[in-house]
Amino acid sequence: MNSTLQVIPFSGTRHSRESGNPSLIVWIPDQVGNDVSTQFLEIHNDIRIKSNIQILDVIKIMPLKTEFTLLTFYKFVAIKNPEQEVKRHLIFCRDIGMKGRIYLWEEGISATVSCNKGQLQAYKAFLVSNAYFNDIEDIDIKSSSVKSHAFEKMIVKYRPEIVSLGIKVDPKQVKKVYQKISVDEFKNIVDSSDQNYEILDMRNSYEYKLWHFKNSLPSWTVNFKEVKALVKEYGKKFKNKKVVMYCTWGIRCEKLSVLLKNEGVDNFYSLDGGIVKYINTHNDGNWLWNLYTFDWLVSTPVGDEKTHTKIWTCIYTGASTDYIENCRYSPCNARIITTRKAYKQHLGFCSQECFDKGKKDLLIKPDFSLDKKDYKDIRSQIKLGKLKLEETREGISRYLDNKLGKHSFNHKESQKEEYVDSCMI
Ligand SMILES: [Zn+2]
Repeated sequence: MNSTLQVIPFSGTRHSRESGNPSLIVWIPDQVGNDVSTQFLEIHNDIRIKSNIQILDVIKIMPLKTEFTLLTFYKFVAIKNPEQEVKRHLIFCRDIGMKGRIYLWEEGISATVSCNKGQLQAYKAFLVSNAYFNDIEDIDIKSSSVKSHAFEKMIVKYRPEIVSLGIKVDPKQVKKVYQKISVDEFKNIVDSSDQNYEILDMRNSYEYKLWHFKNSLPSWTVNFKEVKALVKEYGKKFKNKKVVMYCTWGIRCEKLSVLLKNEGVDNFYSLDGGIVKYINTHNDGNWLWNLYTFDWLVSTPVGDEKTHTKIWTCIYTGASTDYIENCRYSPCNARIITTRKAYKQHLGFCSQECFDKGKKDLLIKPDFSLDKKDYKDIRSQIKLGKLKLEETREGISRYLDNKLGKHSFNHKESQKEEYVDSCMI
């Protein structure tokens, strides 16, 4: 046996939990150099060998300064024992020092992780070695390069449902009913403003509000579960059109395809690979502005100076901006598109309603960059009887009115996103 040992270094030395000795992942192409059937060896103090190749040496890990990749993928596949897969993944991913989140459930796998070059290769080969995951599509086109790890920890968990629709779907059924539109076909539809098509953004409405494809419509949902109630309406509303749905990665649309099919709706197609595959393939300005992924942890600027389009305007002033804050009236907490200056001038309230309510019930998040009151402490002092409610309320009301001064609110009512039934009709 004369295989070449190829060491994949990874940043930071990891140590075996038992012995404290360095652990290594070694990548060994098979004897004929066919990298499809790579084999893996995980070396700890006690060496676990999955093949009959001999380990000739213990190789010191070299910390590697390298580019990092943000890797994302999912696959609908029936997994018999997801808990067992969770364990396998967790041990492997932690050992190679990868970071991020991987969820496994009976219907499949969904991963968002950051890794250096070695970790990337190691993890890809780990997937190839597993019959459930050896044919995952679009891994490369959905990944992007980042300067460092995008996550602090490696989390691998079982979740009963990843895309919350409140229904289970059979992965085989997904494959059967899912009707794809390729990124190139999608580009043609958007570029030509083809009237035979309607483009529907299946993300939540606040995400649509921030950024979306040119000429697309929002799904008008606050969370994905609500889509379930709208499926019949979609069918009726768009019965004379071909509808192309899209979402960030494609996973929502795949799952939704099953629901639509069950309702007898068959004129819905999905952008294959989602927004991420599109923007990694075409730099054409059809996507308007940035994209937040991974639960708002990472914002990816899309396009370059020529194609990067800003669509945000400040809710107070209408100025173009790229800044988001939250309304500081706790029961509202609306996401506000604003500028830092205008946000400060309006003391962090999104609307006249939140400002007025805040003065009454004092449910205001303390923020010393906006004013000097510790509302949390004030509320507890009132509770303990150390401060009188009416007096305190009046004092704070005067204080806030003075601070607001000449500025007034553009919006009378709270800007909290609410699902509005009539939006679909
Ligand atoms: Zn508000």
